[in-house]
Amino acid sequence: MPDQNMDLSCHIGAYYTHLFPYSLFYQWLSYSNVEPDYFARREFSFTLNGDIYLRFNSFESLAEMRKCILSRQPIKIDIGAVYNMRPCESRKIKLMSFQPQSRELVFDIDMTDYDDVRTCCKGAEICEKCWMFMVIAARILEAYLREDFGFKNILWVYSGRRGIHCWVADERARRLGSDGRDAIANFINIFDGGQFKAKKVEIDGLKGCHPSLIRSIRIIDEYFEELMINRQDFLATKEQIKMIANLCLDKPLREEILETLLNPNETKLKTSLDRWRMICSLSIKFYSSKGPNQLLNRNQHRHKYFLEEIKLQLCYPRLDINVTRGLNHLLKVPFSVHPKTGRICVPIDFEKLDQFDPFKVPTLLTLIKEMDEISTPQESEKLTDGTISLAYQTSLASSLNLFRKFIQNIERNLRPIKLAEQDDRSTIDF
Ligand SMILES: [Zn+2]
Repeated sequence: MPDQNMDLSCHIGAYYTHLFPYSLFYQWLSYSNVEPDYFARREFSFTLNGDIYLRFNSFESLAEMRKCILSRQPIKIDIGAVYNMRPCESRKIKLMSFQPQSRELVFDIDMTDYDDVRTCCKGAEICEKCWMFMVIAARILEAYLREDFGFKNILWVYSGRRGIHCWVADERARRLGSDGRDAIANFINIFDGGQFKAKKVEIDGLKGCHPSLIRSIRIIDEYFEELMINRQDFLATKEQIKMIANLCLDKPLREEILETLLNPNETKLKTSLDRWRMICSLSIKFYSSKGPNQLLNRNQHRHKYFLEEIKLQLCYPRLDINVTRGLNHLLKVPFSVHPKTGRICVPIDFEKLDQFDPFKVPTLLTLIKEMDEISTPQESEKLTDGTISLAYQTSLASSLNLFRKFIQNIERNLRPIKLAEQDDRSTIDF
């Protein structure tokens, strides 16, 4: 959409002048200044019009960041790691000792990775029929992060087009090295074999199903019929039936499913719902003690989790694990403007995740229009906290409040650490 790009470059200046939440950004990335220069050692990367990339920018203060963004007017802002020295200095002297030290644990989920299972659109497109894949992914990932890893400061952000980002800002998460991030990414990622392997998920039935997978399957179950049957109609064609049947590794069951569902005289199994219920009942019968393999009890069937494997293969989060693994990987910041759609990368209220509608997210153009319509504009955001910004009079207000709440929670959790450190220092002074 070339027009969108043109509009974007025309209006981005107004967005950065009146709406971009610099103070909140600075407050977030300073992390209460528990560590010296934490903000100043953070890498900012800018993409300018014409695909010009400027990496390793860093700023000493809120005012400096604001001034640079206003003068450069980047069409995209990413942030990377906090380094052991200021990134802008390293650029000048290219020191070997320049190393990433800390950053949020991040996750990136993109709808294009669901192209082999969604039937409604492909590539960069999304619609109301497939967005639910993102809802399920966020629910499952959030459960891992809170329940298995004990993280508390989690921000979900719409990526502006076809996916979601997750930022985990707990100190413990920020301190993770590459190995720790790799271990977490591998623990959560259950897909195996790359895009050309038909069967991507295998649960070893003899070892049993891990509790985190059981929890994930329960979450999928809440959405499965609505998403896969009502919205995706996932068993509508012969090819789709074959694709699902081929996930079954027990040949007799696989053949029974194919014979039953592809029987030309079969008139009762016309809808995806009928067909799915038939697959379920054939599978349950096959793996029960009354089935054809009655010599084995259910616990002895290696592939007894066939139905669960289908659900996971279709609906489990498909992470871009390289984004999570890399300590210095760049990720677009919240409140960026997506360069292609003009949509703002707004935080998502996890409590109202099911109601989040990506098509209702404000765009740069709708915000500019809203600003024009504000009859008595108040001052745009000042550098001191607590002033009413023009942004709070637009449809960005609820997103800004969510972001503020996320930052306040971080600060609440940091406070005991900060006080403890001060106590240490006072002990030494005495
Ligand atoms: Zn779609």
